[in-house]
Amino acid sequence: MAYYESKPVAGRHFLQIPGPTNVPDRVLRAMDNPTMDHRGPDFGRFGKQLLEKIRAVFKTEGPVVIYPASGTGAWEAALANTLSPGDRVLMCETGWFAHLWREMAGRLGLEAQFVETDWRRGADAAGIEAALREDKAHAIKAVAVVHNETSTGATSRIDEVRRAIDAAGHPALLLVDTISSLGSIDYRHDEWGVDVTVAGSQKGLMLPPGLSFNAVSQKALRAAEAATLPRSFWDWRPMLKANETGYFPYTPATNLLYGLDAATDMLLEEGLENVFARHDRFAEATRRAVRHWGLEIQCEEPRHYSSSLTAVRVPEGHSADGLRRTILERFNMSLGNGLGRLGDRVFRIGHLGDFGPLSLVGTLGGVEMGLAAAGVPHKPGGVQAAMAYLNGNA
Ligand SMILES: *Cc1c(COP(=O)(O)O)cnc(C)c1O
Repeated sequence: MAYYESKPVAGRHFLQIPGPTNVPDRVLRAMDNPTMDHRGPDFGRFGKQLLEKIRAVFKTEGPVVIYPASGTGAWEAALANTLSPGDRVLMCETGWFAHLWREMAGRLGLEAQFVETDWRRGADAAGIEAALREDKAHAIKAVAVVHNETSTGATSRIDEVRRAIDAAGHPALLLVDTISSLGSIDYRHDEWGVDVTVAGSQKGLMLPPGLSFNAVSQKALRAAEAATLPRSFWDWRPMLKANETGYFPYTPATNLLYGLDAATDMLLEEGLENVFARHDRFAEATRRAVRHWGLEIQCEEPRHYSSSLTAVRVPEGHSADGLRRTILERFNMSLGNGLGRLGDRVFRIGHLGDFGPLSLVGTLGGVEMGLAAAGVPHKPGGVQAAMAYLNGNA
């Protein structure tokens, strides 16, 4: 069966949703190698160097656990390994993904306490500090924050969240979802004192969906010894034991690991700082186009602008989904939809992963043509504004 049923359009599809992202040819070629014996001698050597190398991407000296699962699995792993039934978790409602993580916490038998936002900015560090100061009995066992809220395009300042926890003198663990920021936005697991970093393969890491990650601090490992939520598949302990020699306790996603090996090499060869600067530049160019069109950016706080995606509001009386449909049918480009309360109100431009200056110009060109084709009021010339910025800051 053809996996792509829409009317064929010549030219490569532009997959500009904020994950899954475009998979570079080098990663596709790496995955296109014969699957090997995951208990054989070659696998241990391969696994050991990969598990070592991947730490650099998280900026950690500690272990990184890799699951054959989507990011949602790594969310569950972070909670199930560190917490016990009835534990309180302080979460920050930055948008749809924070909402989903909270629902999961509830289903696992945890008590989620929510610091609210209006879905137009990142986590409220002062609100977190105030909630922790009030919690004199230390009932809150973990603070859980989404680093880059993919539903709104707002990036939370994890350094400020860390300072808020320290200022309150609170012993809670810090759990951070970096599913749409790792490998595209500055992130420092060790320096920011994060206890569990949750990540996924299909966004900044430029892989297909199917792998997810927990980077784990020593404090989190100690918490895992005392935690009593039921866990089996997600249990870090057998994984870390097998990983010592480069192996896995059950069959790993071997070919995705080949891809991860290649993608990690690509990120480290470019240099993480250069990767972050590239994303910052393309995000700024995108915002200049959006402002020129006269459209509104969902994130209202410039300090929280996301470098991996931009969520754009459509004017009242217009349909973001209608615009996305026009752009897909006419120009063969997929854009992200509005999630939860933002359904049909925003479209999301993914500018992360394997993405260069002409990917940006093509993407914005598709949006600008789509605005005209769908009859969404705008001022033409946004692509020019983006190009002028890129030329001045190449
Ligand atoms: C994509 C995403 C998720 C969900 O990951 P899945 O791989 O779809 O399970 C969770 N959090 C954030 C911030 C995301 O961007």
